[in-house]
Amino acid sequence: MFDMDEKMHEERASLSLFFRLLKLGNLKTGLVIAGLFLGIIETIAGLIIPLFTRDLIDQWALDGLDGNNIILFIAAFILQTIAGGFSFYLMTYVGESMVANLRGHLWGHVLHLPIPYFDRNESGAIMSRLTQDTSIIKSLVSEHFVNVFNGLISVVGAIILLFLIDWKITLFIFLAVPVTMLIIQPLGKQMFKISLRTQDELAKFSGHLGRVLQDIRLVKSFSAQEIEREEGKKEIQSLMRYGLREAKIYAVISPIITTVILLVIVIVVGYGGARVASGQISAGSLVAIIIYLFQVVMPFTMMASFFTTFQKSLGATKRITEILEERVETKGFLQIDDFQKPLKFEEVSFSYDGEIQVLNQISFTVEPGKNYAFVGPSGGGKTTIFSLIERFYRPTEGRITIGGEDIENIDLSSWRDSIGYVSQEIPIISGTVKENICYGLKREVSDEEIEDAARLAHAHEFIEKLPLGYGTEVGERGIKLSGGQRQRIAIARAILKNPRLLLLDEATSNLDSESEVHIQKALENVMKGRTTLIIAHRLSTVTDVDTIFVVEKGQITAVGTHNGLLESSPLYRKLVQHQFQVG
Ligand code: ADP
Ligand code: MG
Repeated sequence: MFDMDEKMHEERASLSLFFRLLKLGNLKTGLVIAGLFLGIIETIAGLIIPLFTRDLIDQWALDGLDGNNIILFIAAFILQTIAGGFSFYLMTYVGESMVANLRGHLWGHVLHLPIPYFDRNESGAIMSRLTQDTSIIKSLVSEHFVNVFNGLISVVGAIILLFLIDWKITLFIFLAVPVTMLIIQPLGKQMFKISLRTQDELAKFSGHLGRVLQDIRLVKSFSAQEIEREEGKKEIQSLMRYGLREAKIYAVISPIITTVILLVIVIVVGYGGARVASGQISAGSLVAIIIYLFQVVMPFTMMASFFTTFQKSLGATKRITEILEERVETKGFLQIDDFQKPLKFEEVSFSYDGEIQVLNQISFTVEPGKNYAFVGPSGGGKTTIFSLIERFYRPTEGRITIGGEDIENIDLSSWRDSIGYVSQEIPIISGTVKENICYGLKREVSDEEIEDAARLAHAHEFIEKLPLGYGTEVGERGIKLSGGQRQRIAIARAILKNPRLLLLDEATSNLDSESEVHIQKALENVMKGRTTLIIAHRLSTVTDVDTIFVVEKGQITAVGTHNGLLESSPLYRKLVQHQFQVG
């Protein structure tokens, strides 16, 4: 009993969430009412048609056709068609515009969610919230809602008319209904459960496929196709089992329904025929009764699919609401006017998962206009320091300040606009080289400016040699660039952005010596006269910077210049001996 109550309560809660989503999608209630109204006209016209049919048949049998009646008959048909068409279009319009608003809102929200959210959630899952889940809600609004509404009118109307035409036959028909219900009800419930489970399984399966396809190179280089095939096979088999379970229930239900319908028709035609023969009802009435019979039965199948979609919609609502309830990044309010103030880490600690301490009470100061390098063994926390400066994550303890002001208070987009971040795994978007260099730029730039930036980044030369120069497609559907080339494009991107603070996470992958020379030159160009923090993996990068921080196990264990550290820090000496080729 308690279970039942709880379930009811939950359903009501998700129903109110559902309405909240409709509101968020700016559902046009006026149009919904207009659509429903047209639907009512369509249904009523549909209910009248059999009456005209009856009269026409009866007149035909007696003394020829009445012209007026034919005109009315045709008019009803036309009315039904036109009202139906407009109602369909209106409701589709309402559904589409609602889902467009909802998607727009959701997408905007997702883009502003903090990085930890994306650490916790697979992108495939987030994508299906935006595409599939919103579609389910759309179909409920634009199709099922009208269908059920009209279906109910049609059923009630047809039943009333049936009783009016001949209550005796109608009673016979209605004896069949409860009997059928009794048999089908439990099966229907079972079916419903299975269909929901199938949905879940399907989502899991496509999620899995997505992961594998994304890492197809890994799969191939480890010859893991067989393993993945087996994994996939298990899921495919389980999908098949659900499909078959569904089929078994169908196998029981559909012959029962067919038999019942057949029986009813036999009864109606047989008993009705007898009544026509004995002159108790007209032949036209019998035909009308048969048509109404269909108008009672048809909506029932629609209603069944309504309930399934309705349940699915509640599930979709829950998942969408979960995203909407995720807090977006703290935006801050102070506009930042200049970076000519020291940036300070004040006893900053950080943990990704709340358990493992990745940064441990780190403190350091970055003076404007100077260059700093972070070196140290892989996993020490260097990239994490950059992520905190970029405000991808927030310190678990301590704070980061600029000119004494907590950076969290500074308007987030102006903060990030002031930072150029060249990350370790250099992202290339699908598009041309030019689009890549200009990505996210909020001002117009001339081709000369782009080329100048590329020259400074030592990228111009290789770009010129690409088949279409700056117009060459790169990324997922274009030319694959080498690590060194990507890095130089990223540097060009940073130069064009002209940030006050530059964060460079050198790629760890081995570069060919030519690339290395180019990148070294590019870095020199871009670091000049600009506050720069660089995570260095190459000796050549660090020899000239003002200050080097040695980062180990989440702590800064030594600070100094290259020569100073060579004397004071054994770890630094060791790193230099190994030419820095560590993470
Ligand atoms: P470095 O750049 O010095 O090699 P990182 O800052 O990348 O070190 O990583 C420091 C530690 O934090 C490592 O143990 C790494 O596994 C962990 N780490 C890095 N990124 C994440 C993340 N997004 N979620 C959880 N742990 C992470
Ligand atoms: Mg790193």
